[in-house]
Amino acid sequence: MIPVEDAQAMCLELVRTGLSETVPLADALGRTLAAPVQAKRDQPPFSASAMDGYAVGDVAQGDVLDVVGESAAGHGWDGIVGSGQAVRIFTGAPVPTGATRVVIQENVSLEADRVTLVEPINTGTNIRPLGADFSSDFTLGAPRVLSSADLALIAAMNHPEFTVTRRPKVALISTGDELLMPGGDPAPDQIIASNVFALQAMLHETGAEPFVLPIARDTPDALDDVLQQANEWGADIVVTIGGASVGDHDLVAPALDRFGVARSFHKIAMRPGKPLMAGSKDTVAFLGLPGNPVSAVVCGHLFLLPMVRRALGQVDVLPRILTAKLDAPLPKGGPRAHYMRARFHEGPDARHVIGFDKQDSSMLTVLADANCLLLSPIGSAAKETGDSVTILPI
Ligand code: AMP
Ligand code: MG
Repeated sequence: MIPVEDAQAMCLELVRTGLSETVPLADALGRTLAAPVQAKRDQPPFSASAMDGYAVGDVAQGDVLDVVGESAAGHGWDGIVGSGQAVRIFTGAPVPTGATRVVIQENVSLEADRVTLVEPINTGTNIRPLGADFSSDFTLGAPRVLSSADLALIAAMNHPEFTVTRRPKVALISTGDELLMPGGDPAPDQIIASNVFALQAMLHETGAEPFVLPIARDTPDALDDVLQQANEWGADIVVTIGGASVGDHDLVAPALDRFGVARSFHKIAMRPGKPLMAGSKDTVAFLGLPGNPVSAVVCGHLFLLPMVRRALGQVDVLPRILTAKLDAPLPKGGPRAHYMRARFHEGPDARHVIGFDKQDSSMLTVLADANCLLLSPIGSAAKETGDSVTILPI
């Protein structure tokens, strides 16, 4: 049994990186920028008015100025503002040559074609200088997970499309004679395949392209067949669910051997999730998850999603870790790292967490109530209420 951290590092090594594709702005939210994007122009491309008012040169309170033209957004004014002159100007319009400030319209009185500057001239110019937001040597660095604001920024840089990392294709294979897809008519000894839908959703959310394959029965032929299907679909990561221990019906490890997968590890010092296995064949990574719903989902958070983020070229790929204060005592740690289902909340003084009493790895109701995993490390001492612990939001 290897420690979780070693298993995570080995999983990440199995993943191919560096694949990219071009996408339009409209499809780029949440994608990871594959290469830096350089601005094609300065923004603003001219010195622009920040207010509606009058563009003027050197002036003082009480000056009376001739209004000699108008500059509106998209319709600049070509002349030069001389002394004793003003140009009517609107927000976003180019500031004409000769003008050094914009006096807001509330601070003048207008009569025919003349304005009087009735208020004190304040220090702000109400002008956005050329390139104040960014200049044409500005680049947005990669890798970067693109936010909605990033998309506006890249649009302003005048790029309608750009390269992002390709979504890894992840095949999800449920295994087991007892399994039936939701909506089916189960026999008394059957259960519904469930964890695959959590994994599919987690993969979507993380930016992968998941594909749920048909359930494989517990026979060598069925497993060989479904692995072949995953291969034909072009999976970058093949995930099996169940059949991972070494019981009579646990056929996944031998099936992966037959398929030619070089195994990195099998079994980790973790609870839930002990039978986890991983390996690779050519550029394809394989991850064998335990079948128990909670084990599969917890291992999905700890191993599969980091693999996806790595394939996407991201840097911070491991689950986010926070500290919190215990709201109830925690027993001492056992021989495996225990990732307990728990709930945390942000209190006025500190972040608080409480582990659930039920920690059975088959119980989806408990998992659905959890918003984090509470880590009880191998061999750790018992802890009291108020002690600090590590949690992983899920
Ligand atoms: P296994 O790892 O195949 O021994 O499965 C462990 C437990 O998880 C058994 O109770 C299975 O019925 C259950 N199980 C396996 N696969 C799934 C699945 N896709 N969805 C829900 N439960 C499953
Ligand atoms: Mg099974």
